[in-house]
Amino acid sequence: MADAKMVKRKIAGGAQQAVGKYISSTTGDPLDITSAGGVEGSTEGLTIFFDVALDLLCLANTDGYFLKLNPAWETTLGYTMDELTAVQFLDFVHPDDVAGTMEAISELASQQKVIDFVNRYRSKDGTYRWLQWRSAPSGDLIIAAARDITEQKRFEEEQAQSFGHLEELVRERTKELERINEELTESIRERVKSEARAESFLNLSLDMFSMPGFDGYFKYVNPAWERTLGYTREEILSTSLTELIHPDDRDSTVEEIREIGAGKETMNFRNRYRCKDGSYRWLSWSAVNVPEEQVMFAVAQDITDMKSAELDVAESKDELEAIYNGLGDGLMVVDVEAGTVVRSNHVLDSMLGYSQEELTGMPITRVHPPEELQQKGWEVEKGGKGMKHVQDLICLRKDGSTFPVDMTGTSINYKGRPSVVAIMKDATERKKAGEALKASEQTLQTIFDSMPGLLSFKNRDNVIVRANKMFADSLGMQVEEIEGRPLSEIFPDQGEEYWKDDLEVIESGKPKLGIEEPLDTPEGTTWLRTDMVPYRDTDGEIIGVVGFSVDITERKRAEEELRLKESAISTSINGIAIADMERRLTYVNGAFLELHGYESPDEVLGREILEFVKDERELAPVMNELLETGSWVGELKSKRKDGLLFDGQFTTSVILDERGNPVAMLATMLDITERKRAEELIKKNSEELKNLIEIAAHELRHPATVFRGYAQILISNWEDMDRETIQDALSRIDEATTRLIRLVDSLLETSRIERGKIDLSLSEVDPAAPVRLAIEEFRSRESDRELRLNCAALDKEIMDAEKVKQVLVILIDNAVKYSDEECPIDIECVKVEGEIVYRVADLGPGIPDKDRGCIFERFYQVADVLHHSLPGIGLGLYIAKTIVEVHGGWISEEPRDGGGSVFSFGIPAVRESDHAQIVSYLRVAG
Ligand code: ADP
Repeated sequence: MADAKMVKRKIAGGAQQAVGKYISSTTGDPLDITSAGGVEGSTEGLTIFFDVALDLLCLANTDGYFLKLNPAWETTLGYTMDELTAVQFLDFVHPDDVAGTMEAISELASQQKVIDFVNRYRSKDGTYRWLQWRSAPSGDLIIAAARDITEQKRFEEEQAQSFGHLEELVRERTKELERINEELTESIRERVKSEARAESFLNLSLDMFSMPGFDGYFKYVNPAWERTLGYTREEILSTSLTELIHPDDRDSTVEEIREIGAGKETMNFRNRYRCKDGSYRWLSWSAVNVPEEQVMFAVAQDITDMKSAELDVAESKDELEAIYNGLGDGLMVVDVEAGTVVRSNHVLDSMLGYSQEELTGMPITRVHPPEELQQKGWEVEKGGKGMKHVQDLICLRKDGSTFPVDMTGTSINYKGRPSVVAIMKDATERKKAGEALKASEQTLQTIFDSMPGLLSFKNRDNVIVRANKMFADSLGMQVEEIEGRPLSEIFPDQGEEYWKDDLEVIESGKPKLGIEEPLDTPEGTTWLRTDMVPYRDTDGEIIGVVGFSVDITERKRAEEELRLKESAISTSINGIAIADMERRLTYVNGAFLELHGYESPDEVLGREILEFVKDERELAPVMNELLETGSWVGELKSKRKDGLLFDGQFTTSVILDERGNPVAMLATMLDITERKRAEELIKKNSEELKNLIEIAAHELRHPATVFRGYAQILISNWEDMDRETIQDALSRIDEATTRLIRLVDSLLETSRIERGKIDLSLSEVDPAAPVRLAIEEFRSRESDRELRLNCAALDKEIMDAEKVKQVLVILIDNAVKYSDEECPIDIECVKVEGEIVYRVADLGPGIPDKDRGCIFERFYQVADVLHHSLPGIGLGLYIAKTIVEVHGGWISEEPRDGGGSVFSFGIPAVRESDHAQIVSYLRVAG
């Protein structure tokens, strides 16, 4: 230990004033000031500590005046001692802290210690400094040590504001301080009892007072050392500085001590001291050299916590810096009131083309055009809370070019000023992509609208989400009127029905294709063919139905037309058939089947044409012409299923496809058998007519020649002729006249028959009566020929006696005409099996076998020499046959045994009671 010496120390430098004070050191404990009788009488050593202490130490009275202040007051607050002592210290206290301070003073006045009271003192420059007080009463006096914690407060605030996690640290530090304070309080309590008030400064102070010697050992340390490092003071004093100092800090410390030795005053030198527990604490030093004493006066503050806070802050700042610059997006902080950029990151710098220095302080109007800001801008953010998103905010580059950004802005308080932190993403690509998307949307929309059908997308709620123009047009509406509306609103009548289909698709997930349904439109009913397909989102979930409908009204119309044509074709009386180019039938209609005797198309389809005609010989030329010229019209013998042939009238043509290639053959046909028969009949009739005219002319000429011959004879020879000759001539004329009349009667009768005008005059007569009448008429013309009569006595029958007589006259005339004069004629009238049978038999030449079946036909005459020489026109037997048949009877000729013919005819025997029956029968027969 150094001997007690008087040292004079002069505080030099800065705003510190030189205060000449002396402290005395006694042998033994140089700072054993327990016996000091008060501050006034404190030792000189204590005075030096009082002067060099970094804490603000003071002695005040309870009236509110400082009595004594150490120089730290001047350096901290900037006042002179006089200024500080001239007024009540409350004048320096921040108005908000006055009440608290008063309370603290009153506690001190009531002899209680006040530890860790904090208030603000106004500095000379008008700013306030935060002071933390540790005060003890001593009667009417107050001994107090205050520490300027403004910096710490600022850290705390900054941390509280910007880095929430530091709060925790501060809280911990506060706790630590409390803990230390408690310890200190305890210690003070202990010491206050035994130590002098003057020593309280050293003991109360958190500052670590010491006197390191140039020999590398401390000559004095105050109790703060014990508290801070955990050693006893004795341990500290007996340990070399190098052992206590962190190895990394030794060199700098040795160098610092060397410089102090050379007269330099150290302020805020920092190094680490090892604690008893092996940990290190950061100390901040102020020291001066006292060369005379070969010691230094040094005060250290434990700044470990502040250092770690600083480190944390630095670390947080580094982290934030890294975050700022690591952000892929531009970032800037804008002071809202000043309208300037106060911070930016590298990304933003390069986005805009400025350096960070250029950007900092730049008006925001140079980053964004003012009108852009006005429109989308920052204004609303002023003082606002929360977030703001702005899309496509225009940015100005240094080179004057512009580009869009998407900005997210947040209000913050940056360094105590209302600010906006804005994160900006270059939206050029997005905008381009957006525009490309828009363009492709446009393209899609165009495609959508020009689709040749009705396209719509309905969601699961039956609402039309999208529809194309054609869809809207078909309803006479605008797309906007349709989109977003439920289907049921647009189709009040059919909506339900449509929705059923949609639901089916949505629920099954399977498309429904080819739904044909009518749609009522302002123009009438339209037919649609619709395909419904489920619509899925990217996850495959069905979110609706896409419907695509095509107008098939025309097709429907064509189908209907085709159906009508088909039914016309199938019901046509013309047979219609289509065959492929291999000549196999591919289609036949009903008439075709009927004409050919088939029942079902299956029987004929696929079979060859040849099977339906007479033979290949007939078919070949037809096919040749058809294929060569494309059509053929004509008659062809057709073959029925049963093998019978019939005459077919054909119209055929080759069917060509769109390119003109033959693909099929079509034939329409009619059965013309009947027509052919009719034609033949007409032909025959006209032949007969020709014959008739010839015969009739011949037959008419005969009597005419007779008339003329005899008339001329009479005219020329009248006077020379005798009466007999005249008589003969006249009777020849009469004969010829009769013959002429009979001829004309025959013609008239035939004409009547042909016109169907044979009227029977039925009455009940004796069947022999017509025979008697015939003979009577015959006798009127010819009396010589022998007639042999055989008439049975019969009951009366119903007949036209006159007509039956006419038949008998024809048969008798023929018998007479075709047999020799001497041959008798046998006439018979009998009843055989319900019929009255008449027979006229002669001994003439008979009828040749070949003519037997024909002699009853009109105009038929047997053509042989014998027959031909006789007059006649072949109508007698025809008339006879007709008359018999209208009576419901029959007529025939058979050869007579021994030569000649027997002509017989029978008439049904009908009683009176059956009259009605016969009448109706005859009507039918007629
Ligand atoms: P015609 O006026 O020619 O006699 P008919 O119809 O009475 O006409 O007779 C038809 C033909 O039948 C006669 O031309 C004749 O050749 C033949 N014929 C009719 N009656 C007899 C008969 N009794 N004997 C032979 N031939 C007969």
